[in-house]
Formats: sequence, structure tokens, C-alpha cells
Amino acid sequence: MEVTYADLAAAHERIKPVAKRTPVLSSSTIDDLTGARVHFKCENFQRMGAFKFRGAYNALAQLSAQQRKKGVVAFSSGNHAQAVALAGRLLGVPATIVMPTDAPRVKLEATRGYGAEVVLYDASNEDRQIIAEKLAAERGLTVIPPFDHPHILAGQGTAAKELIEDTGPLDVLMVPCGGGGLLSGCAIAAKHLSPACRVIGVEPAAGDDGLRSFRAGKLVSVPLPDTIADGARTMSLGALTFSIIRENVSDFLTVTDDELLHWMFFLWERMKIVVEPTGALAACALLAGKLDARGRKIGVVISGGNVDLGWAAKQLAAR
Ligand SMILES: *Cc1c(COP(=O)(O)O)cnc(C)c1O
Repeated sequence: MEVTYADLAAAHERIKPVAKRTPVLSSSTIDDLTGARVHFKCENFQRMGAFKFRGAYNALAQLSAQQRKKGVVAFSSGNHAQAVALAGRLLGVPATIVMPTDAPRVKLEATRGYGAEVVLYDASNEDRQIIAEKLAAERGLTVIPPFDHPHILAGQGTAAKELIEDTGPLDVLMVPCGGGGLLSGCAIAAKHLSPACRVIGVEPAAGDDGLRSFRAGKLVSVPLPDTIADGARTMSLGALTFSIIRENVSDFLTVTDDELLHWMFFLWERMKIVVEPTGALAACALLAGKLDARGRKIGVVISGGNVDLGWAAKQLAAR
């Protein structure tokens, strides 16, 4: 299955009436610190607080009338759940979300708030994918996967399309990576709009399956990563996202949870924007000096801002 720039352009037209064209911010403090010209694409300001609305809406908008009527099911404890719930509400598609009983209360409430039915499961002894597939079979629902789907990743790639349309060609584009939907979609956009741009995926060090797969030239999985970057706690890339990443991405970098916290709070203080840990991955790799940035024009995707402020305050106090 191939995903082309034309698919991204079509996705963009589909989501434009409902998705926000999020701002691209810069900071002279950060330019001075890095010696680069840095442009941040701020998807923390996207609807529901993360880029995932782009892919979810693009996928749901392409269902048949029959599929829309029956509804969709997704499994996620995080932003994908809220994205599918919101897209479902906007398109009149009933959404069922399978979430662990120990999911953060704010995320449960947000998902229910968008009108989705939440089905809880016990993460310690039940498999959410099996539960979702069972619900799909029983109720005739369509499963909406979190990243390994052409409509999902084409939607996510519109974030980089907008960024490069706003900034012009870039030398480097840095993108957070979990299952690789955002990274693969953004790489397709960069290849077309800024062919000389190096695209770099950034993962939590505890979940460096993408880097390992990229280096090995085959899909490698890791045990469930223990990291505060909860949006990137994936055990492996998808078959489709990996094939696109292999062809269109230049390299991977990783950051530790300690680095992530430090630079996440730096972004809060200096740029006055609330970013969640996963959302700060790419910015953190740049700010921590993991890339030779001097003299370059760099795009950085800030992927989301859904963070529990009580939790963050405790992390800050403990430092
Ligand atoms: C899901 C998510 C990611 C990772 O996206 P993938 O498409 O799974 O690579 C990054 N940041 C945030 C905020 C997310 O919610």
C-alpha cells in the first residue's frame, strides 16, 4: 500500500474545514541557544490538544455510509481515543473506545465528554486489541488503528505540509515518533515540499524500537517502554509506517525522561506553551544538542499538550 503526497493534499482538503491551522512559533532565546533558525509547529493548539485529530478525522470522513452508521471502535488510553471520539461526534459516527481501567481520569472524562462510549478493560490480564476486535465483530464496528493505516498517516502528515508551506524549505525536520504515523506522514510532506530536508524521528530512549528498526533494516520490537512519554509507549513501528520511514527518514535520535522533563519545563517557561512529554520529544533532542544545528533552518513538530498539571507540578517540585 502506497501513500503519496496527493493523498496528503486530499486529506488536507478534507480536514481543513474542521482542523485548526496551528501556529508556527519561534523564539530568539532558542535561536541563540542553538545557533539555528527554529520553527515550531504547535500541534498542542490543535483540537483536542494533539495532531491526532488530523488522522482520525481523515479516516472517519472516508468511511462508507454503512460503516458510518454502524460506528467505529478504537483502543487507546491517550490522544487517539479523544481524537476518534471528537471526529466521531463531528461526523455523526458513534465511537466506542476501549480504555484501561487505570487510564488517567482526565482522559476518560474527555473521551466520554466527546460523546464516545468507553469500554473499560483490565490492562493486567486482558488484551485490548482482542476486546476491540470482538466488539467490532459483534456490533459490526470498523476498527480505527492508531498509526498503521494510510488514512491515519496521511492526515498526520498535513501538520508538516502546513509547516513547510508557512516557512518555506527546511534543512532539517524533527518529529516525535511512537508508532510512526506522524513521522511517516510528515516525511512524505517534506520529501515533496522540501526534497533536500533531512527528516529525523525522535523517540524516548526507553522505547528506541524505531531507531533499532531503522538501523537493522527490519522491524524490531522492544518490551513495553517505561517512559513519561506516554504517547510513544509503542513496542514497534507498523509495517506500513516502517516502510515509509525506511525510504524517507534520514535518522533517529533518542532522549531520556530526565532530559525530557528538563526541556519540557524550559518550553513552558521560555515559550509560554504547555507541552506534554511526548509532545516535547523533538524539541528536546534539538535543545539538548543531539544534532549539529548551527546555521541551519530547522522545523520541529510539537505534537501535543495534554498533560496533567498536578502530575507536572510534582515532577517539577522533585527536581
Ligand atoms: C500519538 C502521539 C505521538 C506519536 O505518534 P505516532 O504516530 O504513534 O508516532 C507523539 N506525540 C503525541 C502528543 C501523541 O499523542
